[in-house]
Amino acid sequence: MKHLFKIIFIIVIILGLTSCGPKGHRKGKHGGHGHGHGGKSEYKLLTKNDIQNLGDHSFDVNNGTEEQYETAANLSGTVEEIQKKTEGLWPRMAKGTVYNVVDSRLNITENENFLIFETNNIPKHVLTRTNPNEATPKNYSFYIPKNPKLLEVPYKITEKTQEIGIALNGVVIAGPYDSQDKIAPYNRVVDECSSHADPQGMYHYHFSPMCIKNSKGNALGVNPLNQIGWSFDGFKIFGLADRKKHMPAIDNCNGHSHDGDYHYHATIDYPFFMGCYKAEPQNSNFEQKKRRMNKQYKDKRNE
Ligand SMILES: [Zn+2]
Ligand SMILES: [Zn+2]
Repeated sequence: MKHLFKIIFIIVIILGLTSCGPKGHRKGKHGGHGHGHGGKSEYKLLTKNDIQNLGDHSFDVNNGTEEQYETAANLSGTVEEIQKKTEGLWPRMAKGTVYNVVDSRLNITENENFLIFETNNIPKHVLTRTNPNEATPKNYSFYIPKNPKLLEVPYKITEKTQEIGIALNGVVIAGPYDSQDKIAPYNRVVDECSSHADPQGMYHYHFSPMCIKNSKGNALGVNPLNQIGWSFDGFKIFGLADRKKHMPAIDNCNGHSHDGDYHYHATIDYPFFMGCYKAEPQNSNFEQKKRRMNKQYKDKRNE
């Protein structure tokens, strides 16, 4: 009998862990995180009117049904196939609950080979919660190669590559997949800044950062001519581009060359940022989160 209770207890714990998903920002029924309240939405979905002041794009956020998002999240196949099947579908966004943490800290230096971003991964803009997690300050050092080394075969970004670049404000840019290998901007819910935090408190963007503004107060992320960040392979990432209008054609890695420079774009559709790297990414950038977690673990054990 005692054993039976033990087994039930263990099963309950396992269910509790997996219901939030390993990345912990699984959606609720209506886009908010259900958090075990029978699927009742905690967060209000953003509407077109909420962000109509952002640039020239026609914002049609949350324009899919629950079923459409579910199907889209599970798509696989070639980049073109996924784009075709999700044509016109916008990522899922919700108005989160505002919270505060420490101030943003970002120090940018350079050496012969790299731009070096030392960041606490906290943005200067508003922080809101659309899942149970909150951003916590980190000590990340990202090395961006100054001279990208082109690869013969592009490096595919999979669910194993969750951090793929950094925004100009020093905040992590995430790849298209979540930890369940589903397409994150359809499976998860981001806030009006296109972001949220994971269970380890790592804040990240899943889609063009909407809340980073220039000195005139204009949103950087909505203009395809603005740089919004850096890819870990050393190429720049530019703002939201409509792949039907912004020519020449954007390739499978989500980049192209014009004005003499290769760069990636943020797009409203898959893969949202880079789908692969054209050049060799700096490996130490992928290890920032893992290394810090190991360090915390060691610190705890040494206490
Ligand atoms: Zn995420
Ligand atoms: Zn471009």
